[in-house]
Amino acid sequence: MGTVSIFSQSMQLSLTCLALFVFFLSCLYGSIETKNGKILWLIFGSCLVDFFSSYIGYVSAEVYTQGGTVIGWVFFEILLALISMLLLVFAASHILLPKNSDYTIAYAFGGIGLFAIVTFLFIFPDNEKIAQMRSIFPLSGLSYLAISFLAQIKRKRCFSYIFIGIIALLGALFMLLKLGGFDYLIYKSWYMTPVLYILLSFACILSKSDSFAQKYDEAEVTIEKNNQRLEEIIKFSPFPIMISRLSDDSIIMANSNAIKLFGISAEELERYHLRDFFVDVENRHLLNECLEREKVVQDFELLVKTPGGMTPFWLLASANIIDYNYDVALYMAFQDITSRKNREALLKNQATRDPLTSLYNRRYFEEEVLKRIISAKATNQPFSILMIDADHFKNVNDTYGHKTGDKVLIELASTCERALRDVDVVARYGGEEFVVFLSGVNAQKGKIVADRLRESISEAVVHSEDGQEVRFTVSIGVSSYEISDNLDTLIKTADEALYKAKENGRNRVEIFNLEDKKEFENKEIQERIRNEENNRHPIFNQEENTEISLLDGIEGNHIQEESTKIEDENMPYPILGVDEEDLK
Ligand code: GH3
Ligand code: MG
Ligand code: MG
Repeated sequence: MGTVSIFSQSMQLSLTCLALFVFFLSCLYGSIETKNGKILWLIFGSCLVDFFSSYIGYVSAEVYTQGGTVIGWVFFEILLALISMLLLVFAASHILLPKNSDYTIAYAFGGIGLFAIVTFLFIFPDNEKIAQMRSIFPLSGLSYLAISFLAQIKRKRCFSYIFIGIIALLGALFMLLKLGGFDYLIYKSWYMTPVLYILLSFACILSKSDSFAQKYDEAEVTIEKNNQRLEEIIKFSPFPIMISRLSDDSIIMANSNAIKLFGISAEELERYHLRDFFVDVENRHLLNECLEREKVVQDFELLVKTPGGMTPFWLLASANIIDYNYDVALYMAFQDITSRKNREALLKNQATRDPLTSLYNRRYFEEEVLKRIISAKATNQPFSILMIDADHFKNVNDTYGHKTGDKVLIELASTCERALRDVDVVARYGGEEFVVFLSGVNAQKGKIVADRLRESISEAVVHSEDGQEVRFTVSIGVSSYEISDNLDTLIKTADEALYKAKENGRNRVEIFNLEDKKEFENKEIQERIRNEENNRHPIFNQEENTEISLLDGIEGNHIQEESTKIEDENMPYPILGVDEEDLK
């Protein structure tokens, strides 16, 4: 392919060598981290061998003009031309079958070529045939290369293949002209070789960009495949699963279980944002904060709603950040835990509420009020305790029956709840007795509240089973922080005041005053001594039977309880009409 004449012209030789060097560098660049590196190096190798073949041709011509024997040189020159062709055939085979390169054609070309060289050089020497071989070898190699590269036209990102194919085709035409006897034209166009090298250099660079584009395409296919696999997994998952875009919270996909769970249709899915399903938007922010800290969140409890506005329900969610369809997305799998939550709430209710009146029970009252007292002490807030007892309740049962008695207790409880503020604690203490903790209220103000409550209760009416109107009254005892900050003492002293109210005629309120305290304490001491005497065993030593006072226990324990905040202590009482002015 090369032009022998360049070796006698230093300028032409330098330019050709420079172009070959540029081709080398481009080949180096084009083959790094690409699949086509081997092919590029085979083409470069072919050009290099051809260059040397041309040089040997030049040397043999020189030897010939000086009258020397050239058969050895010619053999060497033609053999290099054959090798150059074989390298092109290898490159072409490689492009046709990249995974299982079949070199049968290359071996066939090589075998025939070698046979022709030996035959026409040594057995039946024929100068004309030898001269034709200089063109036939490159022509065969380039034609095969052109066919195999141009055959890649249907490939994606095939620009560099077509470009090399066209160059090879032009090269083959050039060789055809040479074979057709246009030697003079070829002799003049020495620059075809460096131009060819430069074009091939350009092809190397193109090949690199094609290779990158191919890699991108392959990555795209992989992502697509992964997405499809993920979609399959999500689709057939027994759990409801939803994927939302992290940037704008919009739903990208949801499986049929999630669609059913949230009561939406698959078509309108993209209209929704994940936050639309959260009852409490703060919870949505909380989830994001958790995800920022650790990319996977598990067992996150959510109260969600459907767009149809049905009753909210509880879900247990696991969430993690994933790459989905070139987006950063939030993957969430859900489990409906509404029934578990309801069961929990029921159990909690059963543990803290009285089943008949739904008021708090005595145990909850004591736990809660201990905390309230600590908090009130810490903030120097007053508080009062009311002990409420239905008057002659036995008569109600006896006259109208136990069921009507229950109705009275329910009405009594709901009147208390309606009349008092949310911040107060109302509980059924036992039987027909109720207890109230009033926050921010001293004994005097407590009496006003209690009187209004008593009046409200006296106005309430229930109907017996045979339709008769049943009215009822209560007596109330008041004690307050002025007496003690010990819950047990407060209850006992309020009970003492209640006893006084009963004695003084019922349907009234009495306060346990500071003056009553001395007498109460004496009574307490006497009662303790009496209990001690009753409990003393005749055999055991009295010293060893140390009694542990319940009061002491509470005193000791309650200061360790965590304080809770009392809100709206100055709120007016809902149905009692007792406001700050009245209390002053
Ligand atoms: P006093 O004015 O002195 O308080 O008289 P009283 O009849 O209210 O008091 P007493 O302690 O003699 O009777 C209380 C009655 O309350 C006796 C009991 O059968 C009744 N009682 C307690 N718990 C319930 C309940 O849950 N339902 C009904 N219907 N009655 C109850
Ligand atoms: Mg009673
Ligand atoms: Mg009673």
